[in-house]
Amino acid sequence: MTAVAAVAAFVVRARQFLAAHWPLWVALATGPLLALGAIGEAALAHGDLAALGWMTVLAAALVRVLGREIVRPAELARPTAAALQETELAVVLLAAAFVLPAVGGDHRQSLYPLLYALVSFLTIVVRSKGAVWAAMGAALAFEAAVGRGGGVAAAVTVEHMAYLGFFALGNALVLRGVVERVRRHHEEAVGATLERLRREARDFRLIAAQLPLSSRLRGRDEEEACMVQASVEEIHEQLYHQLDLLRVALGLHTCALVWVRDLAPDAAGRSSANLVLKEVATDSDAVVSSPELDGPGLLAAVVRDPKPLRLTALDGRRRPPYYEAPDGVTDLCAVPVRDGDALRGILCADRTDDRSFSDAELAVLEQAAAHMIRVVEHERAFAAVERGKYEQEQFYRASERLNEALTLADVYRKTFEALAAIAPYDLAVLTGCDPAGRTHEILAVDVADGAPAGTRALVERLEGYTFEGEAGLVAMAVKNRHHMPANPAVEGRGPVVFDDAVGPVEARSLLVLPLVRGETVLGTIVLASDRPGRYGPATREMLKVIGHQVGVSLQNARMYQAMEERATTDGLTGLTNHRAFQERLSQLHALAERTGQRFSVILTDIDHFKSINDTYGHPVGDQVLRRVAALFAGRARKVDIVARYGGEEFVLVLPDTDGEGAAKFANRLREEVAAQTMVSEHGSFHVTISMGIAEFPADARDRAELVRLADEALYHSKESGRNRVTRYAKMVR
Ligand code: GH3
Ligand code: MG
Ligand code: MG
Repeated sequence: MTAVAAVAAFVVRARQFLAAHWPLWVALATGPLLALGAIGEAALAHGDLAALGWMTVLAAALVRVLGREIVRPAELARPTAAALQETELAVVLLAAAFVLPAVGGDHRQSLYPLLYALVSFLTIVVRSKGAVWAAMGAALAFEAAVGRGGGVAAAVTVEHMAYLGFFALGNALVLRGVVERVRRHHEEAVGATLERLRREARDFRLIAAQLPLSSRLRGRDEEEACMVQASVEEIHEQLYHQLDLLRVALGLHTCALVWVRDLAPDAAGRSSANLVLKEVATDSDAVVSSPELDGPGLLAAVVRDPKPLRLTALDGRRRPPYYEAPDGVTDLCAVPVRDGDALRGILCADRTDDRSFSDAELAVLEQAAAHMIRVVEHERAFAAVERGKYEQEQFYRASERLNEALTLADVYRKTFEALAAIAPYDLAVLTGCDPAGRTHEILAVDVADGAPAGTRALVERLEGYTFEGEAGLVAMAVKNRHHMPANPAVEGRGPVVFDDAVGPVEARSLLVLPLVRGETVLGTIVLASDRPGRYGPATREMLKVIGHQVGVSLQNARMYQAMEERATTDGLTGLTNHRAFQERLSQLHALAERTGQRFSVILTDIDHFKSINDTYGHPVGDQVLRRVAALFAGRARKVDIVARYGGEEFVLVLPDTDGEGAAKFANRLREEVAAQTMVSEHGSFHVTISMGIAEFPADARDRAELVRLADEALYHSKESGRNRVTRYAKMVR
């Protein structure tokens, strides 16, 4: 049985495959036809209809593959599908091209360059290796076929084949090599630019945390990188301007600013550092081409003991470290550039004319050094302000959006948007808690695209999870109404955030922020990032305000949801009310009209309900309504509509159920209601119900008509003695 099914499925798939790729089969079949001479100069000269017909089919195949190529999506999902499509394109193009010399009777001459060009073209545009080989094979086979069909000498055919192979291979090799080289070069250039920018930003202390090195920056990080780049460029411009001014004013050969990197005491307790030529204004051609200097050389004394240094009577062997060749420098003056107590750089001035540096000149250089550090400081402050401005803008936009959120899902989504803009995360979780702060519930989880695998794995466990206990940071943040942990930097294995069952959350930065609303805590926001140094005091301040806003939005959304519920449910029974019933029925009806799905409507009325009210009192009547409603709701499926139609009448709508199925279900309900014992002060009693059923589309297609027919059937049940079910279709009229 299963073998038969498998064979049948295979046959269907095979037929689909054959049908989908008919242009390929047409093109392949053209080969043998060319070889047999069925398509060729002679056949055409005789007005052979079969040959003409076949060429028309081939033309249609060509149009088909070219058309598909035009509308083809950028990348086909499966690589094999893409390769197959490319193969098809190549083979059909080749078949069409080789038909030309065959019918033109021109096996040797003018059309061949076209074929060589086509083969070269295919080796370039076809991306999959398999398709390239297939195209090459097809080209050679077609060549052989055309040669045979046209009676061309074997030597000529072989010559053509050699040319084809030569063009294809040569082109593929050269072009692919070039593309690869360009791509690699580009990648290296981007990487080097980023690396340089990062180092420079750190030199000038523009950024606190390490700027990410990845070339795939997103959102805030990207923004930060751009800002830092602007600052770095501004600093360079101003420094150069200063140096050039000094060079001209003091008659210098070179005025250079050397930066001190990685300053640290060496084994002997003396200071050592790497020196970098940051900016230079010079007349010389002998200044180093790469900014990293080999060693401090003459400047070692300044690194060791940051004091001004004046040297005279220098020669080619004793020269400043920023020259790679002797350049006739005779005098050097070097002054330290300090940022507070720290040595940041050395401002160097040199001359080639044996004029030593005077005290006044030294004073000018010292003032310039102080000014240079102010330039950097100024940019640093500017960057901080810019960063603050950016953050504040994000912050206002985020809180504005949060204010607009109406439903809970909306609040969750906008909360994550706001958090991502202010405090980038790998994992963000919103938790809610009961008023006592004892049970916690995961309301929503969001994970960033590039989050580590461990974090992603956590998401599944967290969704919809509830937990108790006081071990985790969430419980502590709720209890203390204060963010946790005190320091968001995490060392080693992460702490328990939710409970022991979920285990620790691995992150380098972690923050749990309580959502406080007046006197109550509604829940928390959990943020985790693999990057250290996130969620510092400034960010926390903004998050606190966002947290407040999330609290308000959450409460609003909950209120909105409660209002919605109240508007759609019946107060006495908790079932869908009449208005909401009409709405849901209309939706279901529209869906059924579209999909052709059937459904049944059951209308129910309690028998002699007035006398129950009269005998036992109205409150007991209400109790009966609630009991019947609860029974209906308990037996119905999730997709069914169970509504209070009015008074002591109920309506059920069963999707995907015919009249017979509905009648069975209705009878079960009827029997169960009758079996229930109702109790009251005046003794116990039983109630019965009568029901009427109409079916879509068998009884009626119209919605109002369906309900009317169900009512008619219900009336029939009443007429024929109550406590029974009547299908409209089976009604004896
Ligand atoms: P029948 O078998 O023909 O249906 O007889 P019946 O007495 O049930 O007749 P009818 O459907 O006309 O009576 C409906 C009664 O239900 C009238 C009304 O007082 C009572 N009723 C309607 N809504 C409520 C309610 O919310 N609570 C209570 N306790 N009674 C209600
Ligand atoms: Mg009634
Ligand atoms: Mg009644």
